[in-house]
Amino acid sequence: MKNYIFLFFLIIFFSSCDKNIFVESGEIQKKSNEITIYSHRHYPVDKKQYENFEKKTGIKVNWVKGDPDQLLERMWREKKNTADLFVSVDAGKLQKGAGMGLFQKIDNEIINSNVSNFLKDQNGYWVPITYRARILVYSNERVNASDLSTYEDLADDKWKGKILVRTSSNAYNQALMSSLYAHLGKDDVTKWSRNLVKNFARNPKGNDRDQVKAIAAGQGDVAIVNSYYIGLLLSSEKKSEIDAGKSVSVFFPNQGENDRGTHINISGYALSKHSSNKENAIKLLEYLTSVEAQETYVNNTFEYPANPRVQASEIVQSWGDFKRDDLDLNALGSFRYDAMRVFDKTGWK
Ligand code: FE
Repeated sequence: MKNYIFLFFLIIFFSSCDKNIFVESGEIQKKSNEITIYSHRHYPVDKKQYENFEKKTGIKVNWVKGDPDQLLERMWREKKNTADLFVSVDAGKLQKGAGMGLFQKIDNEIINSNVSNFLKDQNGYWVPITYRARILVYSNERVNASDLSTYEDLADDKWKGKILVRTSSNAYNQALMSSLYAHLGKDDVTKWSRNLVKNFARNPKGNDRDQVKAIAAGQGDVAIVNSYYIGLLLSSEKKSEIDAGKSVSVFFPNQGENDRGTHINISGYALSKHSSNKENAIKLLEYLTSVEAQETYVNNTFEYPANPRVQASEIVQSWGDFKRDDLDLNALGSFRYDAMRVFDKTGWK
């Protein structure tokens, strides 16, 4: 009997020890001021934003750039010892991470009032910081704007050998294809993609900027690119890039009265379910959506601001307003698998 009593007290002792250890490690984590971000963004402006935030708050930001699917898998594997935030240039990847159970909802009044409603996640798992349109650019020498109309029209025979676009492994194209799948349905989008591939000026290669340079070099006439790359080319320090930017004009497809508008996507942040520094992570999102940080974005990357109190850069404004496709941005993720099958079936490399 004595042994049992001894064992009983031994268990009580160790379980109370456990609690102490737990509380202590919790406190240690709270004392650490730093935030870690896994990033699917690849722009120098992010470094600038994190430095400005650190100057204001003393909170240091560490970030790891990488492939979004690998970063999400890493978060899943690391569980509690993972990043505080995940940022992507594609709502589809954010939808994927939310589906994997990696994020927690963000409900913060400041952030909520900072960002436009049409960009918000209806499920509350991610916060948009900027958006971009996947537009058409065309050769000023060889194409009339009146010849262009919709994404669908790019599959017409008249564009044979003239269309430039990067590979299907790129998230921007995957998001565009997901949106077209959502709107047109499987049969029509498959037919569209098959005919579009026949119109390619060359096998897909290079990034969005390279498609514009190929127009300048006369290798094709119309390219599908993200809007901000034109701003980046026109404000480049390299003459060849400025010349490439000047050789084309911007066209927003699907603007007809009854049409759905041009496909857009966001850059957005999600808060890790296991963030050990939630308070500071939220502070960073409050800052990144503020007027000050939004102005830094628009004037450095030429993206559109998520905060409606901020105006796009002058270059971007010069292209005029456009009608945006108001498809739920999570559809860019939920139709991703279907979109990938269309690429495969129709030979879009
Ligand atoms: Fe980009």
